[in-house]
Amino acid sequence: MKKDGSYHFETKAIHAGYDAKKHSDSLTPPIYQTSTFAFSSLQQGANRFAGTEDGYIYSRLSNPTVSVLEERIAQLEGGEAALAFGSGIAAVSAALIGLTKMNDHILCSKGLYGCTFGLLQMLHEKYSIDYSFSELKSTEDILKNIRKNTRCIYIETPINPTMKLIDLKLIASIAKEKGIIVVVDNTFSTPYLQKPLQLGCDLVIHSATKYICGHGDVIAGLVVGNQDMIAGIKKSAQKDIGGIISPFDAWLLLRGIKTLAVRMDRHCENAEKLADQLRKHPKVKSIYYPGDKHHPDYEIMKKQMKKAGGLLSFEVNGTFEDVVKVVNQLKLIPIAVSLGDAETLIQHPASMTHAVVPEEVRIEMGISNELLRLSVGLEAWEDIWEDLKQALDTL
Ligand SMILES: *Cc1c(COP(=O)(O)O)cnc(C)c1O
Repeated sequence: MKKDGSYHFETKAIHAGYDAKKHSDSLTPPIYQTSTFAFSSLQQGANRFAGTEDGYIYSRLSNPTVSVLEERIAQLEGGEAALAFGSGIAAVSAALIGLTKMNDHILCSKGLYGCTFGLLQMLHEKYSIDYSFSELKSTEDILKNIRKNTRCIYIETPINPTMKLIDLKLIASIAKEKGIIVVVDNTFSTPYLQKPLQLGCDLVIHSATKYICGHGDVIAGLVVGNQDMIAGIKKSAQKDIGGIISPFDAWLLLRGIKTLAVRMDRHCENAEKLADQLRKHPKVKSIYYPGDKHHPDYEIMKKQMKKAGGLLSFEVNGTFEDVVKVVNQLKLIPIAVSLGDAETLIQHPASMTHAVVPEEVRIEMGISNELLRLSVGLEAWEDIWEDLKQALDTL
């Protein structure tokens, strides 16, 4: 392996962070299913605790299989270091708890993952950390929403399920001037499609449960950033709160990541095909897909994403009862939340992921009762479309 990290994304996804020579020549990273590590002497143990000698101590602090995963995702995002967690929300909470202190303010994009919102509420009630929301659409809008105590700007783009985008370069340039940290939940895009750190943002978070795993069989999270920030989060919020990943789940993620580039290409290709078909169907009122030339954020997509991603939403041209009929008529596509799996998944945000949002707020966010969200899978797009079409045709 070259040491300079100049390999292409696809190559790093398969090799980065792993040296078989250090692991008995095993082609794939071994699963170090161990809770603790034996020191060769008292002095060695003392040195490891003191940090004067490299080496493992205890698997809540670090584990060789997990280290390979952390190094690999850091290289893919273009960051210096990374941490792996037992869920996406463990990653979000470690990052926010690690970065903030009492009376800080977090400025958020309008439209956040539900449990991230729940975490903000909890941080506010228990620890007096403030938060507010903004569309973050223009310099004026961003400046207006920044407070004296704003510690970080927390962004999801694309925003679920309306697929609105936020201009990361714009936000990063304003935040840098003000000394504010920009945190991006990059779950929907993955580093293959969007690299927030290269656009000037400071920290990237993933629910690795989704595309990073890609096979619907792990719950996990990741945080990527510079050495200092990652060391700070590790020390304060990972070590002492302890939401770590298991070695086996880290290994499954390493396996999933190998095919990230080819999977993302196919997810995107299928989503483009389905967007085209859905747009033409008389029972579809509107579609929300950033790859659609009529999407209001199409230009931002062109600027900061390689492709438009594998998620799209559409409104059924009919009543809520018609939506129920369409969904229940599907024969191939499972009705399920989550996303980024090989299987195409459909969900109804108004009654599932966004059911807790009050109806007026939900409608104002663009999430009507007729909206369905599709996580486009890796099946032949013709089969996915045939299933959707037969269901829409019953109306
Ligand atoms: C799923 C998801 C999360 C939470 O991740 P878990 O792995 O379920 O804990 C956070 N952010 C986004 C955008 C998600 O889709």
